[in-house]
Amino acid sequence: MSDATPDLSAYLGGDRGPYRSWDAVNRPMIRHWCEALGDDNPIYHDADAARAAGFDGIVAPPTMLQAWTMRGYREARPPGSDTSDPFEVLVALEELGYPAVVAVNCEQEYTQYVGEGDTLYHRSTIESISEQKSTALGVGFFVTELSTYYNQRDEVVGTMRFRVFKFAPHARDEAAAPVEAGSAPPAVRRMRPVRNEDTRFFWEGVEAGELRVQRCGGCQTLRHPPSSACPHCQSLEWTPQRVSGRGTVYSFVTMHYPEIPPFDYPNLIALVELEEGTRLVSNLVGVSRHDVRIGMPVQVEFAEVEPGFQLHQFRPLEGC
Ligand code: ZN
Repeated sequence: MSDATPDLSAYLGGDRGPYRSWDAVNRPMIRHWCEALGDDNPIYHDADAARAAGFDGIVAPPTMLQAWTMRGYREARPPGSDTSDPFEVLVALEELGYPAVVAVNCEQEYTQYVGEGDTLYHRSTIESISEQKSTALGVGFFVTELSTYYNQRDEVVGTMRFRVFKFAPHARDEAAAPVEAGSAPPAVRRMRPVRNEDTRFFWEGVEAGELRVQRCGGCQTLRHPPSSACPHCQSLEWTPQRVSGRGTVYSFVTMHYPEIPPFDYPNLIALVELEEGTRLVSNLVGVSRHDVRIGMPVQVEFAEVEPGFQLHQFRPLEGC
């Protein structure tokens, strides 16, 4: 990392594209998406239901927006695509000594549905590059890319703002990067959960050593994470319900990189299906990532992960 703040203005703005899609909007991709997310809305798979809702045929979940024109693992872009890298500024920052990157947030807006057979493309611009910032992770720049998505009629179907932080990490070995007395950066703490009218019951439950989910007052369906309205019947009435904390591993992922403090790596994260029926994301402990398997019975436990901060986590049931 150089001492002087680099001038990155040359990378700002611009209009790159089109970035085209390999495939037209299609049922198999929609089906996989809906299956993975547990979305049963019939307009995504039943043409009659979609027509009854006023569409010409099945439509794709708007949240799939990014999926259609994503580059994929290969470098090659579909024919007719711009071959340049919209995130060229990240490469430049790397050369300037900011090697690490972390996604900060992503905001999408949908202006119209896309339907089966539509062919999408997107254009990209670097909307903003921050001043050099010092954060708990290190020193670097927030870079925001704005992608605008179009259909084959060149109508905008949605936009996505994708923000990353490209940075030089703080030295992990404090001795290797001596700091003046009194100026040591504070230890990175886990983010504290948001407590509002919808989520307070959950965190109070965790503090009391209880796992609680919401039960809809309209259709009685259990749900998690907390939300103000029932996704099934839209009722705003709900009550907290204590659940057993027993369940099975529905899916899991092992986070390897980037290593973001204060978490331990590899970081084993599971989607647990509770025996009462709803699912919840949690750390998995007491098992190696090599031994986790889908369907493994697990039980919730509560641990003080930092002084004064209790969290739920799951552990395989003994004997399983
Ligand atoms: Zn309901």
